[in-house]
Amino acid sequence: AGTFLMSACGGGRGSTSEGSGDGASGFAADSVIGISLPWLGTQNWAEAQTLFETDLKKAGFSPLIQAADNKVAQQQQQIEAMVEQGAKVIVVGPIDGTQLGSALQSAHDAGVKVIGYDRLIENTKAVDAVVQFGSVRTGELQGQSLLDGLAERKGAGPHNIELFGGGPADPNAPNFFKGAMSVLQPKIDDGTLVVVSGETDFQQCATPDWDNGKAQARMDTLLSGNYSDKPIHGVLAPNDGIARAILTSAAGAGQEVPVVDGLDAETESVTSIWEGQQYSTVYKPTKDLVAKTLELIAAYQKGEEPAAPTEKVDNGSIEVPVYALDPVVVTKENAKEVFADDPDRLALLK
Ligand code: BGC
Repeated sequence: AGTFLMSACGGGRGSTSEGSGDGASGFAADSVIGISLPWLGTQNWAEAQTLFETDLKKAGFSPLIQAADNKVAQQQQQIEAMVEQGAKVIVVGPIDGTQLGSALQSAHDAGVKVIGYDRLIENTKAVDAVVQFGSVRTGELQGQSLLDGLAERKGAGPHNIELFGGGPADPNAPNFFKGAMSVLQPKIDDGTLVVVSGETDFQQCATPDWDNGKAQARMDTLLSGNYSDKPIHGVLAPNDGIARAILTSAAGAGQEVPVVDGLDAETESVTSIWEGQQYSTVYKPTKDLVAKTLELIAAYQKGEEPAAPTEKVDNGSIEVPVYALDPVVVTKENAKEVFADDPDRLALLK
């Protein structure tokens, strides 16, 4: 299953097919590798840009890296241009998991391998593998960390909380929320947690485009509408930028610092955690995800089948091999341990 078969007719781009006919065939060791990132608005994507550039070059490839500023049409065009320029593999962090079907199908027809990076690629057959940190697992860690922080900082409860999700087009965002709610819902049901606004559906809680400003505006509205006479104890945040927006809003409303989780271990949030403001983050080291992606690219280059995936995930069209890494919760207490191999983050802890 999953064996790479070179398309016999090559989508009219015979010159890009180095293999002839059947079976796995590799490609030149200095080939162009396309990297299509959704935007550079959070630190993880900027880190990916830098690491792919250096690591692909180190491995002998010619990197072609583009970021799409959260605009779907721009990302489609960038992918088409990568195919035109002879990319042998295209690595994609999709802005919208469902909107790349035809661009990626053309790539596949031309013999290009397609890897989903950090986010699932949905509703298309034209994806060979996905590398990511477990997305439901990430949400479970966020929900559990919010509960732990409430117990540690805010006493026995009941605790007043609000819920935030990420950008609804990003296939990770509903999974993060689902994982978190699997931990929080039982505590809402038994009265330990009270969502004062009553907003508990993903669609109500989502943050369009992962835009921190939009999250801050929603938090301002929630606080002025529901908390003029009561404290807010905790907030579920899908990533660090949104966590900091929530903390800024709470401070502006004169609230004591609520317990807020996060994601990405961004520089500003690691500092905030170290200073006792943001409670936690979830660390998903970009260097590990880039390294895993390079393993797959190296296997494709040699025409080999990569190692077995962690799982197969239904993307609405096919069962995609997914290589899932484990994310880790970081609080002030374990930060030095977790960042022992990450000198940049370790240096923030002083
Ligand atoms: C990534 C997060 C990131 C978010 C916004 C998600 O798909 O997994 O690391 O914070 O996108 O860029």
